[in-house]
Amino acid sequence: MFERQARFEPQALRSSFRQLYGKEPRLFSAPGRVNLIGEHTDYNEGFVLPMAADRRTYVAAASRDDRCFSVYSFNLEEDGQFELNKKISPPRKRWLAYIEGVARLLVEKGINLKGADIAISSELPMGAGLSSSAALEIAVGFALLKLTETRVDLMQLAQAAQEAEHLFVGTRSGLMDQLTATFAVKNHALLIDCRSLERKATPVNLPAMAVVVCDTRIKHELATSAYNERRHECEQAVEILRKKKPTIRSLRDVSIDDLEQYGGLLPETLQRRVRHVVTENQRTLLASEALPRGDADRLGQLMYESHDSLRNDYEVSCRELDIMVALARQQEGVSGARMMGGGFGGSTVNLVRRDTLEQFARAVSDGYTWATGLVPVVIPVEADEGVCELE
Ligand code: ADP
Ligand code: MG
Repeated sequence: MFERQARFEPQALRSSFRQLYGKEPRLFSAPGRVNLIGEHTDYNEGFVLPMAADRRTYVAAASRDDRCFSVYSFNLEEDGQFELNKKISPPRKRWLAYIEGVARLLVEKGINLKGADIAISSELPMGAGLSSSAALEIAVGFALLKLTETRVDLMQLAQAAQEAEHLFVGTRSGLMDQLTATFAVKNHALLIDCRSLERKATPVNLPAMAVVVCDTRIKHELATSAYNERRHECEQAVEILRKKKPTIRSLRDVSIDDLEQYGGLLPETLQRRVRHVVTENQRTLLASEALPRGDADRLGQLMYESHDSLRNDYEVSCRELDIMVALARQQEGVSGARMMGGGFGGSTVNLVRRDTLEQFARAVSDGYTWATGLVPVVIPVEADEGVCELE
């Protein structure tokens, strides 16, 4: 019922690395992430509340004397190479761009990276909304820094990883995934202020509840264009609102009162876009208070409201996401559910009582398959720690 892989075996990666490269590696790992609430708020300089998932990407690495990199992914069963002394020569494998991107951006930030032999093995499904890409960037980037330097600037690493994704892969996303993979704290979520980039570790005080990701297994074409369009709509709204209130630099600065007072100046569509962002920021702050209090009902209610707002006001949901959330909502033991990520497919995040997990997975899977013909993937996750080196 659940997508459960065999637990990762560090020794197996270590011995595979030895076979591949004939030397002894150091081992590192970084987690995937789940965003509890705070969707489409990051690029509006608002708040998000993600946590790391206990599914991780592992990297075995050993330094070389030259500036060459040799990489092998056990998930893809593919290898790749690049050299820092040589110019980038596209086209190259997409998955390698994440790694070469991080390496080159760290160099650009003034770090004198040595070459390395690298092997990668991940427990994270790719493209399921758990941010396997950030886990990969952060795990590899951390490994390269550790092989080169003793002191690691973690914020610099997170930023290099995000820039790598922008510049080398072409995904224009916020910094949330990389910050989570880097700074997450076990049994905690991170309340991130996307303006100051300050992070507050918030205890996940819900022992009876599990956080469950349901992957719809669909991604509509619209996803990228709609994402860019929403970003543009938010910028337009800021332009209009700041004429009335010059202190508004981004939608983060718009209060509920502002919306009531000045909302009428905006075209109807923009009013709804702004309403989503403003109320979502408020919900995220409220959720960060409900979480340590152990108030599953309140947190769940905020998640349902988030979904409705994303569907009705921001208009980034789709039939499959709505079906998945509606099915979850019908189950006993579910406190909340919402779409997670950019929208138009991807995953939902659900708050489910642990003693009803089996039942939940079966009912939601069956119902979803009946309605869509697709087989979803149901993944329970625990709040794990950020990037680290394994002993
Ligand atoms: P998500 O981050 O939500 O999982 P993305 O499309 O952003 O989805 O990133 C997935 C991509 O990241 C993969 O298609 C692949 O290129 C790269 N990737 C992630 N994990 C690995 C891995 N273990 N080995 C090789 N490439 C990986
Ligand atoms: Mg990604």
